Amino acid sequence: MIHLKMNKPSPKSLYIHIPFCAHICKYCDFTKLIYNEEFAKKYVDVLLYELDSYHIGKVDTIYVGGGTPTSLKDSDLKRILLALKPHLNDGGEFTVEANVENLDANKLDIFKECGVNRISIGVESTSDKMLQSINRHHTFKDAVSVVSLTKEKGFDNINVDLIYGLPGQSLEDLKTDLDNILSLDVPHISIYSLIVEKGSMFFNMGIKEQDENTSREFYELIVSKLREAGYERYEISNFAKNKRYSRHNLTYWKDEEYYGLGLGASGYLNKVRYKNTSSLKKYLAKEFIDTKEEVTPTSEMEDYLLTNLRLEKGFKKEDFKKRFGVDFEMKFKEVITSLNKNSLFSISKDSIMLSDEGLILLDFVLVKLYEYC
Ligand code: SF4
Repeated sequence: MIHLKMNKPSPKSLYIHIPFCAHICKYCDFTKLIYNEEFAKKYVDVLLYELDSYHIGKVDTIYVGGGTPTSLKDSDLKRILLALKPHLNDGGEFTVEANVENLDANKLDIFKECGVNRISIGVESTSDKMLQSINRHHTFKDAVSVVSLTKEKGFDNINVDLIYGLPGQSLEDLKTDLDNILSLDVPHISIYSLIVEKGSMFFNMGIKEQDENTSREFYELIVSKLREAGYERYEISNFAKNKRYSRHNLTYWKDEEYYGLGLGASGYLNKVRYKNTSSLKKYLAKEFIDTKEEVTPTSEMEDYLLTNLRLEKGFKKEDFKKRFGVDFEMKFKEVITSLNKNSLFSISKDSIMLSDEGLILLDFVLVKLYEYC
C-alpha cells in the first residue's frame, strides 16, 4: 500500500467516493458500478480502513459523492457517515449526494443523526421524457416530493443539479426546466452542459454535444433567468442565494489541497496530485493509489488559473503573488492587453477576474495564459 507523506498544515476538505448506482445514466463517465449488496458491504469495510490509514484530524468540509451514495443500504451508509462525523469541525459543511430515486425518510433521518447538513440532489432534467431518454428512473414529480421531504426533515442547505444541452432539448424546453427548477426554491443550483465523454453510452451511440453558438445561447438564458430570480452566479456553473456557496467545491476552485478517498477518487496532498485505482478488485485488496504526480511550478500555476478563473470573483492579486512569487499583471501583461481588446478581463484594484464574455470564452483565455505560465 502506498502512503503519502504529509507535511503540516493538513487539508481542510475531505472527499469520499461511493461508486455504486442503481442504474447507469447514458451520459455518465464517472467511476461507477451497478449496485451489488455483497460488494457494497466489502467496499464500505475497505473504505473505512482507508479512512483510518490517513490519520485525518478535523476538516472544515466533507463531501460524500459518487456514484450514488444513497444507493447503499441504510446500514452501510450509516457506517460511513458515523465514521466521518468526528472528523468535522464545528460549523463545518457535510454534504451527501443523493439520487431522487433512492433518497427517502430513513436516509434523511440517518443524515440528521450523523451531522450531514447539506444535500445535493441529482434532478438533472424536469422533463420526464428527457429523464427516461438518459436512463434516469425518476420523474420530476418524484423530485418535487423528495425536495419537499428533505426540507420537512429540517435540511435547508440543498443543491439540485441540472444538465442542459441534452439531445433534442430546445431553448423552450430549457426555459421550462429553469422555471421548474426555480419552483423547487432551493438555495443552490448547479447547471452543467452535456459533455459526451469517451466511455459513456452517449459516446457509443454517436450523440454529439451542442455546437458553440447554441451552447452560448442556452448558457446566457440560464445566467439571466437565475440572476433575475435572485441567484448569484459565483462560479461558472454554480448559482447560490444568500451566499450559500458550496464550501467544499470552493476548495477545488481555489486550488487548495484535499483528501480524496474511495474508488477512482482524486486527491491533492502535499503538492502531489494522486488518483486512486478504478479497479474494484485492486481497491478491495487495499491497493488504493494508482497514480501520483508532483505538481511543477508551471502545472501549479496552470491549475490555479484553470480553477480560480471559474469563479465570478476570480482571485486576489495578493494571493497569486504570495503563492507564485510574481505579480500576475506583470507576468501576463501582453496577454491581458491582447485579450482586453475584447474586454475579457475585469481587473479591480485587488482582484483578477473574467468578464461575462471572458467566462464564456474561458477555454480560449486559458490557452492564451498558458503560453506564459
Ligand atoms: S450520472 Fe451519477 S447516478 Fe448516473 S450513473 Fe453516473 S454516477 Fe451514477
